[in-house]
Amino acid sequence: MKIKIDQEGCIGCGSCQAICPDVFEMKGDDNKVYVKENEVDKAECVQEAIDICPVQVIKVEK
Ligand code: SF4
Repeated sequence: MKIKIDQEGCIGCGSCQAICPDVFEMKGDDNKVYVKENEVDKAECVQEAIDICPVQVIKVEK
């Protein structure tokens, strides 16, 4: 599973990091979220983050 975030669309709300900090990380000053761990197998929180993202910019490729 490969996670992709559309950086342009991310509004930096921090929800994905709050729900799944092993995978998503807000670093730097640009208020965008980055993927820490791109190859994750059974991270249920990834799906929760996808569901909770208010602008739906988190995608996964299987
Ligand atoms: S939940 Fe969506 S909008 Fe919020 S920080 Fe994560 S990717 Fe960005």
